[in-house]
Amino acid sequence: MSVMSGPYPAAAAPEAVLFKAACPDCRARFELDAGGLRLAIGGSRRTTFYSFTCPECGNAVRKPAGERIVELLTRGGVRTLRLHSAL
Ligand SMILES: [Zn+2]
Repeated sequence: MSVMSGPYPAAAAPEAVLFKAACPDCRARFELDAGGLRLAIGGSRRTTFYSFTCPECGNAVRKPAGERIVELLTRGGVRTLRLHSAL
């Protein structure tokens, strides 16, 4: 086993990942960090979505999240809510 030793401190703060998003209401474009997004994973694709609040107009935006987006957001540390369906 080799130990990785780099020039950077090992106990660095977690990376601040920014996600690009756009508001369908006011068409503003912005970047949100993990804390500004929420992910809901339901039993099907229809009930899997991510949501955020537009910093420009305050509109609550909800968009469907495919597998790729779910993976991306989860890795980025976005708070994930798992919805349990009755099925
Ligand atoms: Zn907006």
